[in-house]
Amino acid sequence: MVGTDTIFALSSGGLPSGVAVIRISGPGCRETLVTMSGGLPPPRLATLRSIRDRNGSFLDQGLVIFFPGPASFTGEDTAELHIHGGRATVRAVLQALASLPGLRAAEAGEFSRRAFHNGKLDLVEIEGLADIVAAQTEMQRRLALEHAAGGVSELYENWTRRLTHARAMIEAELDFADEEDVPGAIGQTIRADLHAVIDEIECHLQGARAGEIIRDGLTVVITGPPNVGKSSLLNYLARRDVAIVTDIPGTTRDIVSVDLDLDGFAVRILDTAGIRDTAELVEQEGIRRARTAVANADLVLALQDGAEVRVPSVPMPNGAAPVIRVVTKADLLGDISSTPDALAISTKTGAGMNELLDRIRAHLPQLSEATAFAVPSRERHNEALRTALHAIDEALRLPGDELELQAESLRRAAHAIGRITGQVDVENLLDIVFSEFCIGK
Ligand code: GDP
Ligand code: ZN
Repeated sequence: MVGTDTIFALSSGGLPSGVAVIRISGPGCRETLVTMSGGLPPPRLATLRSIRDRNGSFLDQGLVIFFPGPASFTGEDTAELHIHGGRATVRAVLQALASLPGLRAAEAGEFSRRAFHNGKLDLVEIEGLADIVAAQTEMQRRLALEHAAGGVSELYENWTRRLTHARAMIEAELDFADEEDVPGAIGQTIRADLHAVIDEIECHLQGARAGEIIRDGLTVVITGPPNVGKSSLLNYLARRDVAIVTDIPGTTRDIVSVDLDLDGFAVRILDTAGIRDTAELVEQEGIRRARTAVANADLVLALQDGAEVRVPSVPMPNGAAPVIRVVTKADLLGDISSTPDALAISTKTGAGMNELLDRIRAHLPQLSEATAFAVPSRERHNEALRTALHAIDEALRLPGDELELQAESLRRAAHAIGRITGQVDVENLLDIVFSEFCIGK
């Protein structure tokens, strides 16, 4: 059960830090503040207090903020202690909290879980909040904010409401089929609205790929035969030495990756072992991993050595990902230049590098509209939305007199979307029916 224990945790980051924030939530919050900060401070006002353990030993001086429930993050009585961020200070305060009856250290995500159970946040908002904390690039931040602020939940709730409404109409028809007040068959208005919901969900799902790329980053895999310049390219892009560059073929045995921030998008670039036959086991493992990396790539850079007299035919990666062909070591060959098919680059002179980044950029989502960040951010959302689409479509295809089956399909559709936000709504059918029809007449 939720809310019986009072939980606490260090909510700010690593120690030492200038200020550390300890969060407390639960029914024991008030008593804790009375014991440790010499009385309950006025609600929502940062108040300077001496912080003491239960025996009265002075631990630190800091700001105490009390958020009485339910108007708090978790919905419970909550408090924050802003103390000095020294390791020993934080440890002493945490120990003092742990020694109070009914208090225990919070588990991972427990504050958010309480917020969800108390109806303060839905699942999409909680996911967004987690993404805000994890966001490393500008686009990740904006995507996370859109979800945390409830913009996407509003969409989902709107669809659930309309599906529930349509179902209520059909069920009303079932229950009162003999009465005269109820309009006939799955009405034209309802059909039209269900089609509109389908269009809106499909449109929303079109942003799924963008959402995934923004959140998880674009995975770019560099492939090509040994010694073609893969590691050199990775190092050039990273502008730091992360992979071993040597003249001996087959030195890159592990995949080494760097994360780039390209125009606010996270782009992960993977270097792979050269794909070729080898008897050496360790290298074979590297090659196996390289193949897996290519199979999971969003974009492949297939490198070919411009310095080779006979340009070796690169075994073209046959994954689903688009491929950019790159000819390396352009500095060694005066006459090699880029074509639309293959881009000539040199890690020695930097030639072709801006063009390469531009060609990678072309695979990033184009976000122009204001609603660009109101896209699904997780496969969980996509799956549920596809389930809903399927179920609505089913309801529309059913024969007009199959009211019960229609209602059941719409119930499944609304249920699928309700599960995205974690607020499956089953109780308000009758309210809707009563508000739309004069049933009591
Ligand atoms: P990998 O096996 O594909 O990872 O290739 P490396 O990055 O280890 O490079 C193999 C060799 O080619 C090294 O000696 C590099 O210095 C050299 N090399 C890489 N890129 C270039 C380039 O643009 N120009 C020239 N001249 N040499 C390069
Ligand atoms: Zn290498």
